Amino acid sequence: MSSAAQTQADDLMQKIVSLCKRRGFVFQSSEIYGGLKSAYDYGPLGVELKRNLMNEWWRDMVHGRDNVVGLDASIIMHPNVWRASGHAAGFADPLVDCLVSKERFRADKAPRPAVGDELPITCADQGVAKTWAEIIEKRFGVVLDRDGKVLNGLKAISTTEFGFFAKGSTSAAKTWPWRGYVGPTFGSPFLSEERQFNLMFRTALGAVDPMNEVATHLAALTAAPDLATAVTERFGKDAQEGALAAALASGDRAKILRAAIEHITSPAMAYLRPETAQAMFVQFKNILDSSGQKVPFGIAQMGKSFRNEITVEHFIFRSCEFEQMEMEFFCEPGTQKEWMAYWKEQRMAWWKRYANDPSKFQFRQHAADEMAHYADDCYDVEYAYPWGWGELEGIASRTDYDLSQHEKHSGQKLRYTDQEKEDPATGKKPWQYLPYVIEPAAGATRAMLVYLIDAYHEEERRTATGEIEKRTVLKLHPRLAPIKVAILPLVKKDGMPEKAQELAAAFRKAGILAKCDEKASIGKRYAKHDEIGTPWCITIDGQTMQDGTVTLRDRDTTEQVRISMDQAVASVRERLS
Ligand code: ATP
Repeated sequence: MSSAAQTQADDLMQKIVSLCKRRGFVFQSSEIYGGLKSAYDYGPLGVELKRNLMNEWWRDMVHGRDNVVGLDASIIMHPNVWRASGHAAGFADPLVDCLVSKERFRADKAPRPAVGDELPITCADQGVAKTWAEIIEKRFGVVLDRDGKVLNGLKAISTTEFGFFAKGSTSAAKTWPWRGYVGPTFGSPFLSEERQFNLMFRTALGAVDPMNEVATHLAALTAAPDLATAVTERFGKDAQEGALAAALASGDRAKILRAAIEHITSPAMAYLRPETAQAMFVQFKNILDSSGQKVPFGIAQMGKSFRNEITVEHFIFRSCEFEQMEMEFFCEPGTQKEWMAYWKEQRMAWWKRYANDPSKFQFRQHAADEMAHYADDCYDVEYAYPWGWGELEGIASRTDYDLSQHEKHSGQKLRYTDQEKEDPATGKKPWQYLPYVIEPAAGATRAMLVYLIDAYHEEERRTATGEIEKRTVLKLHPRLAPIKVAILPLVKKDGMPEKAQELAAAFRKAGILAKCDEKASIGKRYAKHDEIGTPWCITIDGQTMQDGTVTLRDRDTTEQVRISMDQAVASVRERLS
């Protein structure tokens, strides 16, 4: 992205973040305590927008179909769920720190220059380049060639080694071991060891704080003359296998203590779910037995998920606590391709239905080496965010991997019996199989950001008196808009506020969110409701008091029509549907 485009993107995001705070859509979590970078609170308008969006998803995915049922599972599940799903191990991404810039990043996502490539370190500005050159000289004993904000002289010698080449020289003056990648922002190959880092949040179940037990054990272990012997004696058979045995074999004191603490705390350990999906697999049999559904059918769930993300970025695009809307669609093995095509079409149509600019949504098919090993196809629904295309929803063909993992780990049969069909292997009825799964998995909070970006418009127009008037308008789809109708008495007298309340009560009775607004001039009130995305404003004026008519103003066109007050609810209801 060019720097001008970057500035424009930053500018737009800043405007949206500022509008969200000013108008009560989204606040930084715990702001009065300095804020928590990784979490957000959804204010009076934000909670309405988020709920409307999630309700639309539920309406389409569950209420709109005979073959999809809902689930609302617990956030804390049995720890073995995460062992079976691979999250307890597979969620651990190796993390690396740049020893010069202190940037922290995921090793598996870092750029990998080719052997023979120069490895320039590109600093933020010349001042930083000077400082980093000094750090490198002090710590690694070489003086890099400074060209403005770029430090030159490093080169990839092989996939395991990089070196320093003085200007004009073809042989390396100094070399270092290398893991084949550089820091993503500055390009530095001076990196720390890779460290495991689990994206799942851990917590402990039970009324007794496990830290007391840890303290008691550690006090005894660390006082012993030999730590390894003390651990072996204390944990008996457990010390002969798994992580404890591996730590003891390493002889590393810190590793032994860490493994001992893990061992002591593991019985009480629980995790906050990193996705809503697993509960749908775990409850597959119960739902199958109780709902009368037959394969193909789906189970849908929406709710909170938690990930200890390394980088939280772009406002609510990536946060540690977020909401998801996921569906597992169970189908006969061999039919997954057709169902993938069906769900791709359904989901893309859903995203575009609420958008002003449908051209900003696209599919991106995953390359074979990008997919999880068990998936046989995967697409991302991507959106053109101000900073570029990025994921909004993942649609994965997950084969029978999850059900087979849970069968293995739980010891319970999760097979589906089709009485009507012959088993292709034996040619006999019934056919018992583990269904294949298509999973459309979307982020609800990320979706909210997408629709805020899509809706944000700044407009200029000439007024009747010839002046240029600017307005900010959130062109949210009416079904997503937090407030559907603003009822505005022109003045705070002559019975107009009472009439407004009367009309608001009629809207409430009809289940349509309407708010009376009496503050400020009528122009300011229109501007406010444009900015928060209220699709219609109804004004009660002098004429209302005489002939029972009101004006209905459309947010997007700003056009007003006069209708009978008695028809106001029906008219809005019709427009909404
Ligand atoms: P990403 O590549 O952006 O990290 P992912 O591939 O890990 O996403 P999935 O596990 O497929 O995401 O989760 C499904 C959806 O949940 C994503 O498409 C996204 O909309 C949403 N999501 C995932 N992680 C976060 C997060 N940290 N904050 C907000 N939404 C998220």
